[in-house]
Amino acid sequence: MATNPAEVLGLPKPAWAADEVGMLYDMATRFMAEEIAPRYDEFEKNEMVDRESWLKAGAAGLLCASMPEKYGGSGGTFAHESAIIEAIGHVGVDGFGIGLHNSIVAPYILHYGSEEQKEKWLPKLATGELIGAIAMTEPGAGSDLQGVKTRAEKDGNHYRINGSKTFITNGQLANLIIVVTKTDPEKGAKGTSLIVVETDEVEGFERGRNLDKIGLKANDTSELFFNDVRVPTSNLLGHEEGKGFVQLMQQLPQERLQIGTGAIAMIERALAITIDYVKERKAFGKAIIDFQNTQFKLAELKTEATIGRVFYNDCVARHIAGGLDPVTASMAKYWLSDLQGKVVDECLQLHGGYGYMNEYPIARMYRDARVQRIYGGTNEIMKLLIGRSL
Ligand SMILES: Cc1cc2nc3c(=O)[nH]c(=O)nc-3n(C[C@H](O)[C@H](O)[C@H](O)COP(=O)(O)OP(=O)(O)OC[C@H]3O[C@@H](n4cnc5c(N)ncnc54)[C@H](O)[C@@H]3O)c2cc1C
Repeated sequence: MATNPAEVLGLPKPAWAADEVGMLYDMATRFMAEEIAPRYDEFEKNEMVDRESWLKAGAAGLLCASMPEKYGGSGGTFAHESAIIEAIGHVGVDGFGIGLHNSIVAPYILHYGSEEQKEKWLPKLATGELIGAIAMTEPGAGSDLQGVKTRAEKDGNHYRINGSKTFITNGQLANLIIVVTKTDPEKGAKGTSLIVVETDEVEGFERGRNLDKIGLKANDTSELFFNDVRVPTSNLLGHEEGKGFVQLMQQLPQERLQIGTGAIAMIERALAITIDYVKERKAFGKAIIDFQNTQFKLAELKTEATIGRVFYNDCVARHIAGGLDPVTASMAKYWLSDLQGKVVDECLQLHGGYGYMNEYPIARMYRDARVQRIYGGTNEIMKLLIGRSL
């Protein structure tokens, strides 16, 4: 396989991926290959990456790469986060949930937190002492987030939080959770607020099961229960209540784009691995690549992957410049994750029976890819949002 699976497409690097971003990619790739990949089977069996690996990632500068240096980050941009997520995908350790921690959880604190909140939480997110999660989904509210029932009631200088969440990424390990709550249920979306719960500091917080998923086995995904959890009112994100929905909407472009990052990285790895495989494997006296069907299939996939990479690179460039609109970000999420499903499925087929065996990396990719079309807003919801722009 090419050292960097992206090379399989033969495209020039975009300007945003040059210099220090390129160096960060190399460093992150080494880290994932040396520290995470050798223990990945163990992490899949335990259904989570261990805390020590998070601390090591923090020490290596791989947590909060886009947070300002004064809060313990590396002062980068989304390009740096992209380099890290691409490294995870290229090495094939997709269950290590630092993409969500870095480019979803930390930015909420940076953008909406008070100075005091930023000083308190960001440096610990950067070292890995705090592991981040965001809890939006509830048993009765997934795509329709306005249906959130988790209630935060003011009680003097505290909020009392009651409710339950499900499908929360990093849910077993996280000790800083941004919880989507209703501070005023009468007001619908305008009564929604984001409140930070530091789980080590509160009573009444319980983690439910580490959910048994078909893929992304090395990532802990959990139910969470809040039973009269009291947190100081100063844990509200933003200056006033009722801003939660707007805050969620403002952060969506980056959240959706980073799902596209994982998608394009896996697409490149799947192609690189499969091209190697079909050159080695023989049937009817020739290599599998010598069949025209194999060449045509891979020609189609390489073409679509190239279109995907060029689109992705353009989205990142626009995002760094501050101009990635929510509609284009929704296109990136839906189209790249759909393509990921297609490429991985076709690549598995070219592996024959070996592709169905867990010891072959393409099998794990097949399991891990499926959820990309579901979380972060389902691809149907993405089309709904794109449709509204017509
Ligand atoms: C592994 C994993 C990790 C996750 N991590 C997190 C996390 O960290 N934090 C978090 O808050 N959530 C997380 N989620 C939840 C995820 O975001 C939701 O599962 C997703 O938004 C869909 O919600 P739902 O499961 O309730 O499906 P539903 O909303 O019940 O949707 C069911 C089906 O109906 C379709 N549908 C719904 N509404 C419409 C409509 N208006 N038009 C057309 N079709 C529609 C959907 O597209 C889907 O196909 C995670 C989920 C998984 C599986």
